[in-house]
Amino acid sequence: MSDSAAASVPLTINGTAVEALAGMTLVEAAWRGGVPRVRGVGCLEGVCGSCRVLLRRGRDVTVALACQTFVEPGIEVVFLPAPSAPRHHYEIEEFADGWDVQARFHEIFPEAARCRHCHGCVRSCPKDIDVEAAIVLAAAGRFRDAGAMFFECVMCELCDGACPEQIAPAHVGLFCRRVTAHFHLRPPNLIHRLEELRQGRYDVSGMPQGE
Ligand code: SF4
Ligand code: SF4
Repeated sequence: MSDSAAASVPLTINGTAVEALAGMTLVEAAWRGGVPRVRGVGCLEGVCGSCRVLLRRGRDVTVALACQTFVEPGIEVVFLPAPSAPRHHYEIEEFADGWDVQARFHEIFPEAARCRHCHGCVRSCPKDIDVEAAIVLAAAGRFRDAGAMFFECVMCELCDGACPEQIAPAHVGLFCRRVTAHFHLRPPNLIHRLEELRQGRYDVSGMPQGE
């Protein structure tokens, strides 16, 4: 659709008035408003979780991923910075067996047992993950079940910012997935694909490499 044919959509991005076009995503509107377009950074498909934004519609304030959200008249958009480095440090290779995983988990994530069930993480998740329920499972030691619930997680860390107990739900999810993989056989299709890559037998020339 040409600029002349598409309806104009006025909105605010990072405090600057922007005249976007109907059908644009918030990322495209930001480019149109003068935000520099940096090539090769960000997936633009809701996978990398980097374009986290705060949205204000009147009194209603929510969060979203800018590449998956379309422009709306009058909406105020603020791109959120990357969260600070996680405070929870561990080396998964140091987990020798599964007997002490639960105790170690609570040493690494002592806040996880203090979930106050405020639903903040659930409301902030652009992937509709029941983060709160997954945290409860993790705190109970059901790491495999909890990790499975985080399967669609893109590590945007919007849930981390929303958590009043500083549980860092995104990193709890990552821990659950890591520890599950650490103590289980790797899936055969992944093993085969890695071996193909190692031997140079997998042609990646046709894959999108970013702009
Ligand atoms: S679980 Fe947290 S980090 Fe993962 S997609 Fe949802 S909000 Fe983002
Ligand atoms: S935001 Fe934190 S305290 Fe609130 S439900 Fe989620 S994990 Fe629990």
